[in-house]
Amino acid sequence: SLSDDMDTDAAATMPLPQSDERRWSDTSAYARKKILQSWIQLPNGNWELGKILSTSGEESVLSLAEGKVIKVMSETLVPANPDILDGVDDLMQLSYLNEPSVLYNLNYRYNQDMIYTKAGPVLVAVNPFKEVPLYGSSYIEAYRKRSNDSPHVYAIADTAIREMIRDEVNQSIIISGESGAGKTETAKIAMQYLAALGGGSGIEYEILKTNPILEAFGNAKTLRNDNSSRFGKLIEIYFSETGKISGAQVQTFLLEKSRVVQCAEGERSYHIFYQLCAGASPALREKLNLTSAHEYKYLRQSNCYSISGVDDAERFHTVKEALDIVHVSKEDQESVFAMLAAVLWLGNVSFTVIDNENHVEPVADESLSTVAKLIGCNSNDLKLSLSKRNMRVGKDTIVQKLTLPQAIDARDALAKSIYSCLFDWLVEQINKSLAVGKRRTGRSISILDIYGFESFNKNSFEQFCINYANERLQQHFNRHLFKLEQEEYIQDGIDWTRVDFEDNQDCLSLFEKKPLGLLSLLDEESTFPNGTDLTLANKLKQHLLSNSCFRGAREKLFTVVHYAGEVTYETTGFLEKNRDLLHLDSIQLLSSCSCHLPQAFASSMLIQSEKPVVGPLYKAGGADSQRLSVATKFKGQLFQLMQRLGNTTPHFIRCIKPNNVQSPGLYEQGLVLQQLRCCGVLEVVRISRSGFPTRMSHQKFARRYCFLLVENIADKDPLSVSVAILHQFNILPEMYQVGYTKLFFRTGQIGVLEDTRNRT
Ligand code: ATP
Ligand code: MG
Repeated sequence: SLSDDMDTDAAATMPLPQSDERRWSDTSAYARKKILQSWIQLPNGNWELGKILSTSGEESVLSLAEGKVIKVMSETLVPANPDILDGVDDLMQLSYLNEPSVLYNLNYRYNQDMIYTKAGPVLVAVNPFKEVPLYGSSYIEAYRKRSNDSPHVYAIADTAIREMIRDEVNQSIIISGESGAGKTETAKIAMQYLAALGGGSGIEYEILKTNPILEAFGNAKTLRNDNSSRFGKLIEIYFSETGKISGAQVQTFLLEKSRVVQCAEGERSYHIFYQLCAGASPALREKLNLTSAHEYKYLRQSNCYSISGVDDAERFHTVKEALDIVHVSKEDQESVFAMLAAVLWLGNVSFTVIDNENHVEPVADESLSTVAKLIGCNSNDLKLSLSKRNMRVGKDTIVQKLTLPQAIDARDALAKSIYSCLFDWLVEQINKSLAVGKRRTGRSISILDIYGFESFNKNSFEQFCINYANERLQQHFNRHLFKLEQEEYIQDGIDWTRVDFEDNQDCLSLFEKKPLGLLSLLDEESTFPNGTDLTLANKLKQHLLSNSCFRGAREKLFTVVHYAGEVTYETTGFLEKNRDLLHLDSIQLLSSCSCHLPQAFASSMLIQSEKPVVGPLYKAGGADSQRLSVATKFKGQLFQLMQRLGNTTPHFIRCIKPNNVQSPGLYEQGLVLQQLRCCGVLEVVRISRSGFPTRMSHQKFARRYCFLLVENIADKDPLSVSVAILHQFNILPEMYQVGYTKLFFRTGQIGVLEDTRNRT
């Protein structure tokens, strides 16, 4: 009978196999039980369900769909779950936890628009690439009342609010996944819920309006995602004692500024440029001397101007409204648009050769004069700053004329820094506006939406930084879910069979070790005037080949063995991107401008350059300003981030992209599997269902539930009170463990008590 095979509880208490089988095929269970159906892997890698007709010796005969019958080696079969478990909403409920069963379960739900599934404590979200009827006020209400208990971002946000209030501990919602997997949408859905529950002061509208602004300035169409975030974001939402939102703060990470001057065929630069060109009023067009997107070289090079289904002009108005709401004055808004137009016109500045040594100067045309006018400087000063470079050598200053590539570099560097300063300035304005409820109660919920692991055919400095960040986050995840968990059991003396998990400390050390780690060596080479991408690659190979996470490859290539797989990086552009030089001339130019934004940008750049630097950074390289390298700054930001997250109770959401073509209904097994492996979803489920994820100190437990006791023994010691409560509610002995200081429960056990408590 079916029930013979369905034995969820037995599976939950079964000892975990000690082997490291990546498929988690539950061989012991398979051997013990009579299995009716099984997964067979087809030559194309996909799994198909088969009914076992007979097993003799080492071979089994199965019938597949459409009446096909095949004979296979029994050992290649992976047990399938009984039909009654189809589409369970928590993978913990699967009797057989293996990759094909998990893939099937997610697919089964996905086909019915149930895009959320729990994997123990983690929420898995499969991108529907279409509108699904799961959001809005009636859903929010249902989750608030807990009348809907199917997995959802709302449920995660709800738990975060409750735990923040109950435990008086800050919370974080950490969202990860590949580009296009749905992180940003998920973050917005979580914010929507928090705003609905914690709203009232009005500040919640402002918080929600940060999204269209940040997306306009920080998102772009890429080949993977029409609305790809090109920066990482942490938004911390503060709550008052009564659970109302009192303010918020946004922190951003590593904006991809190269996109402003360069982007690949079929991709776009930042949305705001196209929105401005399409949506500006005639008056504004005239003021900024604005033409159409097709007229600007920076926008023209990728040969892509529009996004299907998106009206850029309409979006422009949304952004303006959002800017109004976060209190950016009309005047400032106009300055912002002027900076955008200046960047676009800068891209059109061309150069002409002026001597027989191939030195160049900008052509004094409409582009040059418009830029000068928009930033408020003298046309001639602009011209000079784009044709000469003042270099400090020791105490002397020498003037160097620029060749065409150098001049183009100087122009593009100026455009990139104007844009990135503008982005930072906007974030600062948003933060000023959101800081209204500054009287911080110390309670907050942070939402992290950060680029996921990236592995392309060609991987450069950006992927290097992004993947480094992901190693850090993965460690946070591991530490939280596995390490802390086990350590706590052992410390509290409860019975627990150790489960091994993959730690990524080795890979992190490869990045961070001093002086012989990837980041240190990169910084060192960046300070050498003669350092090139090739010398960097050679240096890395020279020092790191003995590290098991590092592999050399030919010329400028090197490979890092990340937790999520191997990635081969090409050092081309690494040094330049890491140095991120901005010539003093450009800073001086901006500070001499009559407009306030360029001035503000110049001073923020100077402040950055005054930060303490380690070693004689870049002086000799012809650079003028001493700055932290990009990688070092990013590392500092990451450490700070990890520290902040370290003081919170984390809630993890793993977004999954079911296909690479952004289309609804298409579920590619291989692609999903690779992502599930990357984020260790199966390991989490294994650990969670064999563990005791809920825990509470004896005191707290006794205090919280003693009023439910029929018998009045409240004056007894906390442990006795706790045990009495457990008995009264018939919590089965296998569902909890009593530690030295805490009680440990399997998932769902506390629910009965909480429900009773809430009803009383
Ligand atoms: P990136 O790393 O490139 O920023 P991302 O993970 O933030 O990617 P999103 O921009 O959130 O990805 O999602 C990509 C697209 O997928 C969205 O523009 C939207 O069309 C669709 N999408 C994601 N989540 C949902 C959802 N819950 N409902 C409907 N559509 C969704
Ligand atoms: Mg995004």
